[in-house]
Amino acid sequence: VPETPDAVLDGLDPEQREVALALHGPVCVLAGAGTGKTRALTHRIAYGVRAGILQPATVLAVTFTNRAAGEMRGRLRQLGATGVQARTFHSAALRQLQYFWPKAVGGELPRLLERKVQLVAEAAARCELRLDRNELRDVTGEIEWAKVTQTVPADYPAAVAKTQRDAPRDPAVLAQIYSTYEQLKRDRSVIDFEDVLLLTVGILQDRNDIAEHVRGQYQHFVVDEYQDVSPLQQRLLDLWVGDRDDLCVVGDASQTIYSFTGATPDHLLNFRTRHPGATVVKLVRDYRSTPQVVHLANGLLSQAHGKAADHRLELVSQRDKGPEPVYTEYGDEPTEAESTARRIRDLIAAGVPAGEIAVLYRVNSQSEVYEQALADAGVPYQLRGAERFFERAEVREAGTALRGAARAGRNDSLLDGAEDLASQVRAVLSTKGWTGRPPAGSGAVRDRWESLAALVRLAEDFEAAKPGATLTDLVRELDERAAAQHAPTVQGVTLASLHAAKGLEWDAVFLVGLTEGMMPIAYAKTDEQVEEERRLLYVGITRARIHLSLSWALSRSPGGRANRRPTRFLNGLRPGSTGAGTRGGVGGGGGIDRGAGRAAVGRTPAVERRPRSPVRCRVCGRTLTDAGEMKLMRCEECPSDMDEALYGRLYDWRAA
Ligand code: ATP
Ligand code: MG
Repeated sequence: VPETPDAVLDGLDPEQREVALALHGPVCVLAGAGTGKTRALTHRIAYGVRAGILQPATVLAVTFTNRAAGEMRGRLRQLGATGVQARTFHSAALRQLQYFWPKAVGGELPRLLERKVQLVAEAAARCELRLDRNELRDVTGEIEWAKVTQTVPADYPAAVAKTQRDAPRDPAVLAQIYSTYEQLKRDRSVIDFEDVLLLTVGILQDRNDIAEHVRGQYQHFVVDEYQDVSPLQQRLLDLWVGDRDDLCVVGDASQTIYSFTGATPDHLLNFRTRHPGATVVKLVRDYRSTPQVVHLANGLLSQAHGKAADHRLELVSQRDKGPEPVYTEYGDEPTEAESTARRIRDLIAAGVPAGEIAVLYRVNSQSEVYEQALADAGVPYQLRGAERFFERAEVREAGTALRGAARAGRNDSLLDGAEDLASQVRAVLSTKGWTGRPPAGSGAVRDRWESLAALVRLAEDFEAAKPGATLTDLVRELDERAAAQHAPTVQGVTLASLHAAKGLEWDAVFLVGLTEGMMPIAYAKTDEQVEEERRLLYVGITRARIHLSLSWALSRSPGGRANRRPTRFLNGLRPGSTGAGTRGGVGGGGGIDRGAGRAAVGRTPAVERRPRSPVRCRVCGRTLTDAGEMKLMRCEECPSDMDEALYGRLYDWRAA
C-alpha cells in the first residue's frame, strides 16, 4: 500500500496523472489498448479517496464484466482505498432495483428469466413460426437490440426503417414475436436482463424521490470500456449523474465489439459535445505489449475502415523487444489443438505460469477441442466466468470433509497408507466420489472435477512449500485463503472467447481458429459487421504482453477436405501473404472457390448449369453441395449453438 496519497500517483505517466488529478468535472480518456486507461481510472479513485477528496461510498465505478469489477476492487485495496462500489451496469442496476422494488411497485422483484431463447421460440410458435437455431439467435438478438434502444414492439418496424437495419425477419412479424415474448414474460412473472436496466430507468424516471435517494448516495462516477455503452446504459448513467458532472469515462473506439447489442462509440466520441468543459486526455504509450505485438496491432488497424478507425491512435510500445508473433497453418483442427497444447506445455516448462497463458477463440463451441488437448497434455485450464474458487459448492463441501478428516487425525483408517499430504487430500476427496481422472466432455460435472483437482494441486504446492505440514495445517491455510477470498495459487491456462477477453492481459496469447467463416464469423455480412470482426481480432492481439501465436487449420478433421482459408485480416501483415485485407462481405478476401461449379458440369441439365453464387456454411464458410446442408445453410457438423458473444456478458454477470 502506497504510504501517502501522492505515492499513489507514482507509477503514472504525465497524461495518466492528469486524469488522476482531474477530480472535478467531466473527464474523457481516448486511448488505444494497453495504454493504461483502466490503471489511470483506478489510480484516480484511489488518489481521491486517499487524499480525502472522495468519500468511498459515494463513488460508483462501472466496468464491463464482473471479472473487471473484481480486479478493480483488488487494485483499489492494494492502493489503500476500500469501500468503493465497482460493478457492471447490470449488477449496479439489479441491486438498486431489488432495494426499491417493494416501495416503487410492491411485492418482490420477479425472478430472472433463465432460458430466454426458449421463450423466444415459444413466442415464435404462438405466431405460427418455427425458427431454426440460427434464426432464433438472430431474432433474439434483434429483440435485445430493440430493448436496449428502448423501442417498443409497436415502434419496431418504423425504427428498422429509420436506422436501415438489416432485420432478420419481416419487421412486422418480428414486432409480433417481440410483443408475444413480452406478454409471455408478464404471464410468468419473469424479467430478462434488458428488463433489469429498463425497469431501473423507468423507476428513476417516474419516481423523483427514488432518483433523489440514489443521487444522494452516488456522486462520483467512472466508466471503463465506455466505447461499448448501449443507449439504455447511457440513459441509466444520465439518470444516475443527474445535473452534476463528476463523470470520468475511458474508452477506445477501435475496441467497439458489442454493437450487436446496440452499443456505439458515439457516446465516447461525442463526449466533448455533450460536456463542453470536459478535460480530454489521449494516451499513446502502450505499457502492455512488446514492440512486435504493437506493430501487428497498428498494422491491423491501419487497414480498418469506418468511424472508429478514423479516431485510432498509433500505439508506441514502452516495453523491451520480444519474440516475433508466430503464424502457423495446420492441416486440420485437432492437429492445431494438439500442437497448441504442446507449445503451451513447453512455455510452462520454460517458466511461464499457466495463469499467464490464454487460448482465445471466436465462439465458445471452439473451446472443446482445446479442452481435450490441454487435458491430454496434462495442462490445467479454466474456462472464463467461473465463480470464486472458495465459494463454489464443491470446494466448500470438500473443505468440510477435510476439516473432519483433520480432526480424526492420523488414526483414521481412511488415511492409512497415505504417505503424503496430497494423497491424504485425494483420499478424502475420493469419499466424495472424486477420482484422479477427468470426466469426458465439458459442463457442470467437468467444472466440479476441475475445482477439486485444483484443490489437490493446491495441497501439493502447499506441501512443497512447507515440508512436514499436516492436514490440519492445510485446513488452516485453506480457511485463511477463503477468508481473504484469494484465488487458488495454482491457476490454469485461460480458455475464453474474444468477447470475454476484453480488458484482460496475459504473457502469452494463442489466437486460434483464424479462418474465414470464423474470423470474420460467417454471419458478419455488412461492411460494418466485418469491421467489427476486425476490431475483435485487434482486441485479441492486444491481450498479449510478450508471446503471440496466431493459427488456423485448413480442414476440420484429419483427412477432411482442405476447404478453409486463413482470415483475410492478416493479408499483407503475416509473412507469405499478399495484399491488404479487403473490404466487403464474406468471401471477398481473395481466392476463388470453383469446386461447386466443376462438380456440376456434365450431369446437370443445361438450364441449371448457369453459374450460381455458391451456398456457403454460415459457420465455417465452406461451399455446401449437400441438399440438406444447403437448406440449413451450414455443415451438419458445424456448431449451431448461440454465440457466446450474445450472452457472455450476461453469463458473466450471473456467475457473480
Ligand atoms: P485495454 O484497452 O486493453 O483495456 P488499458 O488501456 O485499460 O487497456 P491497462 O490495463 O490499464 O490498459 O494497462 C495495461 C498494462 O500496462 C497493465 O499491466 C498496467 O499495469 C500497465 N501500465 C499502465 N500504465 C503504466 C505505467 N504508467 N507504468 C507502468 N505500467 C503501466
Ligand atoms: Mg482497460
